[in-house]
Amino acid sequence: MPRIAIAGGGLMGRLLAWRLSLQGLAITLFEARDLSTPSGACWTAAGMISPLSELVHSQREIYELGTRSLALWSDWAEELEALSGRSVAFRNAGSLLVAHGQDKSELLQFQRELAGKLDGDIGLHVQSLNAAQLQQLEPALENFEQGLYLRAEGDIDNRRLLPVLLSVLRQQGVSLEERTPVECGSYRVESQERSMRFDCVIDCRGLGARAQVGGLRGVRGEMLVVETREVSLQRPVRLLHPRYQLYAVPRGDGRIVIGATEIESEDMSPISVRSAMELCSALYSLHPAFAEARIVESRVNCRPATMDNMPLIHSERGLVRVNGLYRHGYLLAPALAERVEKLVTEQVLQVA
Ligand SMILES: Cc1cc2nc3c(=O)[nH]c(=O)nc-3n(C[C@H](O)[C@H](O)[C@H](O)COP(=O)(O)OP(=O)(O)OC[C@H]3O[C@@H](n4cnc5c(N)ncnc54)[C@H](O)[C@@H]3O)c2cc1C
Repeated sequence: MPRIAIAGGGLMGRLLAWRLSLQGLAITLFEARDLSTPSGACWTAAGMISPLSELVHSQREIYELGTRSLALWSDWAEELEALSGRSVAFRNAGSLLVAHGQDKSELLQFQRELAGKLDGDIGLHVQSLNAAQLQQLEPALENFEQGLYLRAEGDIDNRRLLPVLLSVLRQQGVSLEERTPVECGSYRVESQERSMRFDCVIDCRGLGARAQVGGLRGVRGEMLVVETREVSLQRPVRLLHPRYQLYAVPRGDGRIVIGATEIESEDMSPISVRSAMELCSALYSLHPAFAEARIVESRVNCRPATMDNMPLIHSERGLVRVNGLYRHGYLLAPALAERVEKLVTEQVLQVA
């Protein structure tokens, strides 16, 4: 049976280990830290799967990969839940964009940019809502007179998904080597103690692969988690504002993940006062009852990004590197996993 090594037990590594184990390949997953308490960007993320919202700031390929991923998540979430008996809280309920009265041109600008990227008519993708329609969909947004509804967007609870993936990997008999930092080469994985040979090595180490992936950089992101019983949301909501952007992603139990800053820095120190203030005041402007919400967690991590912020798949004999998922890990991972699965199976079938 062909033997595959995967380095990095973050989002990409876990997803690939699962998909490739389904092909009957013998998988070993190496993770530098503990698999049960992930430390990669995957654990920090909000888990939004937003091909349309992200298209405005990125290339069309991100939208296409994202749309494919959204369809895959819908099947894969069901499969994972059936295998593990636990929910991954995948939601395909769309997302909402709102702006305050004085900033309503932001909504128009968003639509114009989207129309430019999608070559014209966006009626199929974006529904303009008046105050009554908005309130019907999301009663908490009573202070807004208009909004945009992006139907084809979803989200997944990363804090549920990653442990579920780990338990499924155990069920599938994937060999798990945690607290084992490794270097990756063609057909080879090197840890401090040993050098191991495999039929193919997949490098999913995110920022841990900085020395091997030219131009890879970290982009700092800060977020808060708040808890309230006063306001509830049914889906991710984005507030468009000329100076700062906010998203609020409801996570059950009255918890809402709010974020996120985007700072060109690899600083992993705790959230700054300025970022916390900006996120909280933007949240308060969504609904005044957020004033009494409790801040229960702050999260900081760095997104692994290439120079053009596009994902990277590099393949040579015996080695595939997947990196640069940037702010799009959950948006892109299933579609990228599909491509990598094909590359790897082609390689190992040639070997066999
Ligand atoms: C604040 C924030 C919010 C985000 N929100 C979203 C969102 O809403 N939607 C979305 O799509 N994306 C979001 N992202 C982006 C997403 O989290 C990343 O794109 C994704 O986690 C990248 O996955 P990865 O597996 O490549 O890297 P990571 O998740 O960083 O995992 C890399 C793993 O490799 C391990 N590793 C490193 N070095 C070694 C080594 N030498 N040997 C073995 N293992 C090693 C690490 O410990 C880690 O477990 C967000 C990111 C941040 C920071």
